[in-house]
Amino acid sequence: MKVGIVGAGMVGATTGFALVMHGIADDVVLVDINEKRAGAQAEDLFDATPFGESVRVSAGDYGALRGAQVVLLCCGAAQCPGGETRLQLAGRNAKIFRDVVPHVVSATEGAVLIVAANPVDVLTDVTASISNLPRGRVFGSGTTLDTARFRTVLSGHLGISPDSVFAYALGEHGDSEVLAWSSATVAGVALAAVADSLRRPITDGLRTRVDERVRRAAYRIIDGKGTTNFGTGATLGRLVQAIRDDERAVFTVSAPGTTETPFGGACFSLPRVLGCGGVLATFNPALSAAEEAAMEHSAGVVRNATAMSSGPDSDLALSATGA
Ligand code: NAD
Repeated sequence: MKVGIVGAGMVGATTGFALVMHGIADDVVLVDINEKRAGAQAEDLFDATPFGESVRVSAGDYGALRGAQVVLLCCGAAQCPGGETRLQLAGRNAKIFRDVVPHVVSATEGAVLIVAANPVDVLTDVTASISNLPRGRVFGSGTTLDTARFRTVLSGHLGISPDSVFAYALGEHGDSEVLAWSSATVAGVALAAVADSLRRPITDGLRTRVDERVRRAAYRIIDGKGTTNFGTGATLGRLVQAIRDDERAVFTVSAPGTTETPFGGACFSLPRVLGCGGVLATFNPALSAAEEAAMEHSAGVVRNATAMSSGPDSDLALSATGA
């Protein structure tokens, strides 16, 4: 499978590393406005292939994306240490996407576009609108990593493998995301009942600690090392694999809603089935009244940010709202 990566920075290159080491792609092409950086990343990644899988790795211009079945959009500014939010990147990165996406669409035919740059929900909406591709062929990594974090932390508490814990982080990939505690299950049994039977109850204190661990992870990592790349690179590699193998597995990726879907058609994360055409189906988990209200709030946050990102002074406007 040929995979294109636009934006050969920390996220793009680490995703390339995941694709190479797991042999998820057999041809990886890096495109970046900084051609020297893309070339260097491609050469460095190629050096990993003798220790991973035999993968062709190159850098090129948009024309080099021809034939790609998946293109990952990892281009754009990242959050700075000190608490910059994802939403504060909206104006800057939407501008970059308005430039990049038409080039990607005209170079590729039938490719699935996966948005990784932040704010991922806003940029997924922008990409879906300007690419005009069929529904499902554009989605964002959304809360896939947050869901994995949620399951892993619950797994540690329960002493049960994360693969057997079904719990979802929904809504915005950002400060307003919603941990759906009420629909979490293990072995078809509600999380709270499982936890009680193991004498490891879900207390308010635990909820607060888990919420903090999941929701604030990126801030802590960026404060410590200036960037987040390994978790995201692994996430993106896994999403590409699900498409390559037409897995029809469920991930909480971000995609535009419709007027018939709940939450006012907001472009954010819900559990969705991924296969070779991209998003094949979307589900709405049962939520408590409080979670439902939190999802409505999150939908509003994403809709506002998307509307503001289309204006020339969008960064200033978002900062002024404290977003
Ligand atoms: P980075 O600065 O290391 O890399 C960004 C790259 O984009 C750079 O190489 C830059 O030259 C390139 N770029 C900028 N404008 C471009 C354009 N017009 N055309 C082509 N390339 C262009 O940043 P990073 O750490 O790799 O992060 C990239 C994006 O991913 C950021 O928006 C960041 O917030 C986001 N991110 C998302 C997640 C997630 O879970 N979805 C996690 C981490 C980071």
